Amino acid sequence: MQEQSNQDGAPTRFEITEVRVKLTADPRNKLKAYCSVTIDDAFVVRDLKIIEGARGPFVAMPSRKLADHCPNCHYKNHLRASYCNQCGARLDPERAPKDGRGRARLHADLAHPINSATRIELHKAVVRAYAEEVEAAKTAGEDYRPKTFDDFDQLSEIVDDEYIEELERRQEERQRRRREARANDGEAGAEG
Ligand SMILES: [Zn+2]
Repeated sequence: MQEQSNQDGAPTRFEITEVRVKLTADPRNKLKAYCSVTIDDAFVVRDLKIIEGARGPFVAMPSRKLADHCPNCHYKNHLRASYCNQCGARLDPERAPKDGRGRARLHADLAHPINSATRIELHKAVVRAYAEEVEAAKTAGEDYRPKTFDDFDQLSEIVDDEYIEELERRQEERQRRRREARANDGEAGAEG
């Protein structure tokens, strides 16, 4: 079982009691696996993804693509759409909300940790379960049967590069904020 604390020193108030991993079939896909996590034997979050990033596998929380309403007919369109899918009105493909450095934010997480202690705990548990599943698949070879989640099986999707970039940017942004927070704690300049 997990220790109930981590390197941040902040105790986590929950335990991840189960992680299920379903590997995707196509090795060229950057989306490596779907996961579900159970918290305290009581609450399940599905549709977490393991994505192979430039610096190793990372965990993406369940998310949805952001959309907005066409000013002409109110139909919902993806933020990058140049034309309304319903009425064909011209739309500004650059209308997505921007982050501090002017880069578009096109996705929103549906469930996510709200502090770094929980984020780290979750990430460790999910990446470990993923590594174990990859190992199990290797060991089983041709006999390997990918897991199915109890009630339905998921269609494998291709994760677009734009989404991966957005996730990596967000991670960098979090790390930057953590460094700044630490520096502001009176240790300015003391840490590399
Ligand atoms: Zn329209």
